[in-house]
Amino acid sequence: MLVIHNKKELQKVLQSKVNKNCTIGFVPTMGALHTGHLSLIKRAFSQNEVTVVSIFINPTQFDNKEDLEKYPTDLRNDIDLLQTVSDAIIIFAPSALEIYNGDIASKKFNFNGLEKVMEGEFRTGHFNGVATIVELLLLAVNPTHAYFGEKDFQQLQIIKKLVELKKFPFKIIGCPIERETNGLARSSRNERLSKSTREEAGFIFKTLNSAKSKFGIENAKSITDWVASEFAKSKLFELEYFQIADASTLTPILKKQKNIKYRAFIAVYAEGIRLIDNIAL
Ligand code: AMP
Repeated sequence: MLVIHNKKELQKVLQSKVNKNCTIGFVPTMGALHTGHLSLIKRAFSQNEVTVVSIFINPTQFDNKEDLEKYPTDLRNDIDLLQTVSDAIIIFAPSALEIYNGDIASKKFNFNGLEKVMEGEFRTGHFNGVATIVELLLLAVNPTHAYFGEKDFQQLQIIKKLVELKKFPFKIIGCPIERETNGLARSSRNERLSKSTREEAGFIFKTLNSAKSKFGIENAKSITDWVASEFAKSKLFELEYFQIADASTLTPILKKQKNIKYRAFIAVYAEGIRLIDNIAL
């Protein structure tokens, strides 16, 4: 399995493998891979001649130093997991200096408000960091197709907007959320939860599902209040936000309209660890 740390080397390898009509599937990750990541990687592998997976914990997208320091890493285990999909996957694991060309800083972006709500509101600078690194990675890999999870639905919308604004030729493909058996959305951060809290954390998806059932009957305000009251009863989970929004513009719902797709978004703290999830309504 090829593990490449350097952009020039990656480009050399890709040039040697690809001809003009060859497709390159790319899955950017921060490592500590789990079956959520693997679902994207398997899809990329089945749809492209060449598959590149990047593993890079991007410092500029963390607004919380402790979250960055405690972010799980295990390259050896990541390689073993990728090998279960295929030996032919190329791993790109650059250092921060390498991928940032020596200047580890975010650029500023304007995504027509997509970046201002929810994760953008509660994690200052997060999407500037995400867009900066995704742009650098896309330009380094130059894929035909890049795969992102709906687990980070707001991020997916922002990447689509980035590619549209920059007129990049890359096709962005959204992939469904993979969940643990209790419904908890798979995340590298789940590793940091105690066993019992991880088991109890099915509560988050259960609440999202109940909100979905209520959506046909009650208005958004009453559902939002109900979610807040459910979390207020919980000793383990602290609600940061619950928001029902237009799935394409991410603007909070005012009045439900026909022909608009809505989605509910949630961010929750458990044992100091931040968990996010969302559901189509
Ligand atoms: P991360 O390593 O957390 O930056 O995630 C890398 C990619 O995997 C992102 O596009 C995520 O949205 C996606 N991803 C993470 N967890 C899941 C999941 N449970 N289901 C589907 N995609 C996921």
